[in-house]
Amino acid sequence: MLFCEDCSKTLDKDTTSGVVKMKCPCGRIYDGTPEDTLIMQSFNPSEGRGGVQESIAFAPFDRVNQRVDTECKECKSKYMTQVVNDRIACLVCGRCGTIYKMTDF
Ligand SMILES: [Zn+2]
Ligand SMILES: [Zn+2]
Repeated sequence: MLFCEDCSKTLDKDTTSGVVKMKCPCGRIYDGTPEDTLIMQSFNPSEGRGGVQESIAFAPFDRVNQRVDTECKECKSKYMTQVVNDRIACLVCGRCGTIYKMTDF
């Protein structure tokens, strides 16, 4: 549980933007902790619609994921983000959203 530095109220978790933020009733917003992000990434795919696909789609915007210098075959973006999904490493292009298995390279 986190508390606001300004007013000591309890922070609420807000994931509506795809990244974890901690929001205070006073309006102050904090970046989520890495632990929070990990919880979101291990989201069970059988619950809710497209859980894994959604967490992968947000992966390029997540600071804990590793960026790799691999060119996207679709849009020629120079960087992709490495994510591990169900113990299989994948590369996700942050520009066009194409998902590659590591075996594609
Ligand atoms: Zn506050
Ligand atoms: Zn691309």
